[in-house]
Amino acid sequence: MWEYAPAPESRDIANLKPNYRMFIDGQFVEGAGEPLKTVNPGTEEVLAEVSTAAPADVDKAVKAARRAYDRVWGKMPGSERAKYIFRIARLIQERSRELAVLESLDNGKPIKESRDVDVPTAAAHFFYHAGWADKLAYAGHGPDPRPLGVAGQVIPWNFPLMMAAWKIAPALATGNTVVIKPAETTPLSALVLAEIIQQADLPPGVVNILAGAGDVGAAVVSHPDVDKVAFTGSTEVGKIIQRQLAGTGRRLSLELGGKAANIVFDDAPLDQAVEGIVNGIFFNQGHVCCAGSRLLVQESVADELLEKLRVRVSTLRVGDPLDKNTDVGAINSREQLTKIQQLVETGDAEGAQRWTSACPLPDKGFYFAPTVFSNVSQAMRIAREEIFGPVLSVLTFRTPDEAVAKANNTPYGLSAGIWTEKGSRILWAAQKMRAGVVWANTFNRFDPTAPFGGYQESGFGREGGRTGLEAYLDV
Ligand code: NAP
Ligand code: MG
Repeated sequence: MWEYAPAPESRDIANLKPNYRMFIDGQFVEGAGEPLKTVNPGTEEVLAEVSTAAPADVDKAVKAARRAYDRVWGKMPGSERAKYIFRIARLIQERSRELAVLESLDNGKPIKESRDVDVPTAAAHFFYHAGWADKLAYAGHGPDPRPLGVAGQVIPWNFPLMMAAWKIAPALATGNTVVIKPAETTPLSALVLAEIIQQADLPPGVVNILAGAGDVGAAVVSHPDVDKVAFTGSTEVGKIIQRQLAGTGRRLSLELGGKAANIVFDDAPLDQAVEGIVNGIFFNQGHVCCAGSRLLVQESVADELLEKLRVRVSTLRVGDPLDKNTDVGAINSREQLTKIQQLVETGDAEGAQRWTSACPLPDKGFYFAPTVFSNVSQAMRIAREEIFGPVLSVLTFRTPDEAVAKANNTPYGLSAGIWTEKGSRILWAAQKMRAGVVWANTFNRFDPTAPFGGYQESGFGREGGRTGLEAYLDV
């Protein structure tokens, strides 16, 4: 084992303020809701107090977005809109260190991930969509695709800034205005994005950012003057929203949960596959909708692969999210930690074999050691339900057909992984996967040019790429 000296990033870089306010009609304002305290899950200390929205604030935000749409943004030429969106992208890059440290403090994810994935990907989404703003007539959605109007958007806590970018960038590029609510446990990076939007000089009301819990989200999505709802979060809440919008004629896209199969065939390069499996389930503490949480291994290589995997997982460093050597940071909340613990107990009770990394865990904060269950059968809860934590369930298969059948035996369908030397096998298996994203000999790669989204209970609609524009256009 290597010995590492601590290498913490300085928390001063985050420019934390004691209080954060919401962003409505171009101004930072106090909401009339009960203020919330956001916590650093790595230490359990309160980071800041955040003002939240009451129903009247939601209404103000939607009215501001409507005005901005009618008077300015909806009729602005795409080439002009693009300038603002490019500016947001560049400002995210300029403030990238600050955003990365803030994101790791509020969410608990390792600084190397917020620095190398979340913040650059957020900037990339603004750059990419800025490029589309004046080319929508050539996007394959008709000669003159129109915006929808006001978009009401609700996002989860696992990639707070990145999810905000995935929502806001396409909406702005297509000429819509936005009211967005980040998750209750991770509001800070979205409110700094509001500062950036103000710095970029966007016309007031084009983007409005509210804070608060699920009731604020519910008020946004059910507001009668919202034309388009985009939701990322749990399948449970997604179903509630779909019921609410049924028959209203308002547009909806849902990005929900997943239980992705990561399939390793016997001809796969096993050392590379191990890296992909680790990235698939331990990236972002496993708080990833498209996580490779079900590993399907061909029986003939299962013992060898599992041995290599345990050796590799034993080297993962769990702890201080701000330490540059940390591989697995903190679980986002006590509530989520409890959920993970409960599901892991069902794995024990149902007879799966649990292996847990012997890594030391900090005394304070919410942490869960990387865990691998083998001897898992398809009927077990740990094979069917989303754990949303650093827990892998391993199943085996004998033939390629059996692998495909097991991979598709899920109510979800967000992503899948295939590991094999054979190109023909990649194409064969990818064709048969009922999943929106299929990675081959890699996993958890995100790019704004590639559409992302699900089948079945993982939702509908796509984000990213030319296809993703359609969710915000009247075509
Ligand atoms: P969640 O409970 O559904 O929350 C998501 C967001 O919705 C939060 O902002 C939440 O507010 C808000 N909300 C709660 N109840 C609502 C309601 N009735 N109406 C409108 N908004 C409401 O999900 P979560 O547990 O925080 O997030 C994890 C889930 O998100 C996982 O299932 C994961 O797979 C999924 N996810 C999917 C994708 C994807 O792209 N497919 C990406 C990331 C995560 P609060 O913050 O107050 O709860
Ligand atoms: Mg927090």
